[in-house]
Amino acid sequence: MKIAVVGTGYVGLVTGTCFAETGVNVTCIDVDAEKVRQLKNGSVPIYEPGLDVMIRRNVEKSRLNFTTDINEGITGSDAVFIAVGTPPGENGSADLQNVKKVAAEIGRSIREYIVVVTKSTVPVGTSDALRNVIQQELDNRKMSVAFDMASNPEFLKEGSAVEDFLKPERIVIGTNTDRAAEIMKKLYMPFLLNNHPILFMDIASAEITKYAANAMLATRISFINEIANLCDLLGADVNQVRKGIGSDSRIGSKFIYPGAGYGGSCFPKDVKALIKTAHDHGYELNVTKAVERANEFQKTVLFGKIKKHFSNNLKNKKFGIWGLSFKPQTDDIREASAIILIEALLNEGATVKAYDPAAMDETKKLFGDRIIYVTDPYEALNGSDAMVLMTEWPEFRLPDFEKLSGIMKGKVIFDGRNIYDPAELKKAGFVYYGIGRR
Ligand code: NAD
Repeated sequence: MKIAVVGTGYVGLVTGTCFAETGVNVTCIDVDAEKVRQLKNGSVPIYEPGLDVMIRRNVEKSRLNFTTDINEGITGSDAVFIAVGTPPGENGSADLQNVKKVAAEIGRSIREYIVVVTKSTVPVGTSDALRNVIQQELDNRKMSVAFDMASNPEFLKEGSAVEDFLKPERIVIGTNTDRAAEIMKKLYMPFLLNNHPILFMDIASAEITKYAANAMLATRISFINEIANLCDLLGADVNQVRKGIGSDSRIGSKFIYPGAGYGGSCFPKDVKALIKTAHDHGYELNVTKAVERANEFQKTVLFGKIKKHFSNNLKNKKFGIWGLSFKPQTDDIREASAIILIEALLNEGATVKAYDPAAMDETKKLFGDRIIYVTDPYEALNGSDAMVLMTEWPEFRLPDFEKLSGIMKGKVIFDGRNIYDPAELKKAGFVYYGIGRR
């Protein structure tokens, strides 16, 4: 089989590479000529464990190609996957400019039947809108070419994207023709040998499934964050509470880890877009709105603790930050809590030395020389008044606290992800602040 994937970001690059791994001939297309040049030369522009090796293997076997030319990519393809960004627009709705541009290009290029698959996260009705864009271009060309639309939302997680794509818990396909369903089924069968389901549904249901999944996960996070804040006020330990509720099989233990707020390229924008879609249809998603509000607040909680500890005076205080990406195993800093915290510290006249195993380059693009970047985590804390842990990378889990004690000026640790043991730190002579922990 042959497919094209438009957009070589976290989703498109992983999608194209994983399909190539099953023997499909894949062409990945991107408008970013520099990105395409890098990929052609074997260098991978994003950090995603396992991806580089797989890309190289499939490029060597000539099953994976990169181009900026959509026409070249889709000629002879059974399906074209749209995996370009859908960032939040000004009013919170998903910005569909990129997907529409791609649809128009598809309409200008197709000559034979193809399934047009929306993998980008898009609001209900987008597939219909894209169908019209493509048909309009065909009409302009005075051509009659059959094509079908399909919605195939992506559930991979940055940091384990390759693994998630190869072993999905489920595949969701929205389509309204058997022809498209057959092609999608054939493409995905190699990933479903573990008997996990492929769920066929109508296009609108598939589109909303993605938003509902992210809103549900965000809800669990905001809920436990609120309970953690309450634990702080009442002198309870949210870790105990988390275990207490998580062992109930109706609740489960996943996604109830409190912290400094959720970030990333998906939850914040998808929660906003879902609220906007409902609002546009005359309905208010009160729970989801509260989830968003609670998360905005949560991103300020650690900063509040920092200010309080330093009696509201952060001028010339030195902070060593461990972790910048919105979660471990990725270089993605979009909407990361660390970024908001650093901005707040700088605004108060503090200085920041930061270290992250993967996200330094992305952070430099954002902060330039407003902060100091170091390549060793201990160097970030040398002479600092406090350490702030913002991303729970494995390498931060068991630091040498004796060494820290020797190099830090102030012995204070703000743990934004609750990874350290307060009792152990107290014994080592540190003042410890977590989220909802005694
Ligand atoms: P990204 O920003 O990493 O990548 C998007 C890519 O699309 C970029 O390389 C950009 O150059 C390219 N692009 C933009 N316009 C284009 C055009 N007209 N033609 C060709 N290429 C174009 O985005 P991402 O994180 O991969 O997300 C893509 C979509 O998938 C979004 O809708 C997102 O919500 C959804 N999604 C993301 C994740 C995730 O974890 N990142 C998970 C599930 C779903």
